[in-house]
Amino acid sequence: MVEQSARLSPILKQATPVLATRGEGAYIFDEDERRYLDFTAGIGVTSTGHCHPKVVAAAQQQVATLIHGQYTTVMHRPLLRLTERLGSVLPPGLDRLFYVNSGSEAVEAALRLARHATGRQNAIVFQGSFHGRTMGAASLTTSGTKIRAGIGPLMPGVAISAFPYAYRLGMSEEQATDFALRELDYLLATTSSPKDTAAIFIEPMLGEGGYVPAPPAFLEGLRERADRHGILLVLDEVQTGFGRTGRFWGHDHAGIRPDVVITAKGLASGFPLSAIAAPSELMERAWPGSQGGTYGGNAVSCAAALATLDVIEEEGLVDNAATMGARLQKALSQVADEHPVIGDVRGMGLLVGNEFTTPDGAPDTATATRAHQAAADRGLLLLTCGAYGNVVRMIPPLIVTGEQVDAAVEIWAEAVAAATS
Ligand code: PMP
Repeated sequence: MVEQSARLSPILKQATPVLATRGEGAYIFDEDERRYLDFTAGIGVTSTGHCHPKVVAAAQQQVATLIHGQYTTVMHRPLLRLTERLGSVLPPGLDRLFYVNSGSEAVEAALRLARHATGRQNAIVFQGSFHGRTMGAASLTTSGTKIRAGIGPLMPGVAISAFPYAYRLGMSEEQATDFALRELDYLLATTSSPKDTAAIFIEPMLGEGGYVPAPPAFLEGLRERADRHGILLVLDEVQTGFGRTGRFWGHDHAGIRPDVVITAKGLASGFPLSAIAAPSELMERAWPGSQGGTYGGNAVSCAAALATLDVIEEEGLVDNAATMGARLQKALSQVADEHPVIGDVRGMGLLVGNEFTTPDGAPDTATATRAHQAAADRGLLLLTCGAYGNVVRMIPPLIVTGEQVDAAVEIWAEAVAAATS
């Protein structure tokens, strides 16, 4: 069992019993130099692998030059260069950026921007979504009551609509999409008037809520309603952005145009950095001085983000995510065929979930937990997600190789067999 400090708050729950001393590519090493295949990537962050030499070199160089150029005091080159560079990967028209440090802060920033830009207050979110833990972001979050319980009253003006979670609903993807769009129309007619609704927040794929991709037709339906009612469509790409899904942005699979994109995690290979991007006409309606932060757009983080973009491009990581994601999903489906306790395998690129279900269709959290732990014991680090913790998810770095995918699946098959024997 890993060493713990009695001084650490018990609020923190650690998913795997590992004390990491170093990371290299797709691997984490502990103090005894035991090697773990890391299919968590620090919750979808270290997309270029642990300590990619180019990211390390860029960060080291920046650390020795300027660590903290506070962006409301002085401007610095890494932030300017990153801003120009992001222009080549952001959806067309989203030409203005604002930087903070974490996904939650960026969600808060998008929420404030939406309220300032529209003069409306309400936000619509979808059941099972995760947008963060700060009070505004937690108010938008319904991935599990543990995030919300006991901290209210939460922010008013949040209306929650159904997500097309086809497997849970026992519907086809088309039926679930149809159902969820009708529910949204009903919500706009009964609960949150379009006149009061500033924004619709959506993850292209439910992340913490269970790794459920939003069908393209659902995202198209949201775009259509946002246009019809003058509501902003905010894509939370914190977990799905930067190539993770096999396209640069998760919403690229649907080909829709977002009004605001939120990005974090894979943006800077592990350095704290997040951003929102929006068109000038929206950003110009934000009230000057209404947002900022001491550490936002940190120079070392920006340098790491620039190197991350280089690595993604030079090593073809978006395509690799698509190829390796397909290989992983196919192999995991074969494991599921042999173990009916895994009722559904789904995902986009290198975001893949295995949902555990009892024979009568209830969430099987106990078996999922055992499989997750059995995998860690065998050297494969994974995470769980979903409201019931019954989805075991795999988020390897985008540099993952075919051999590593196959090795992970082999361990997974053994772990599931152990968990069900
Ligand atoms: N949005 C999404 C989609 C996320 O997955 C997360 C983190 N899991 C967040 C927002 C919050 O990010 P952070 O933990 O950096 O605040």
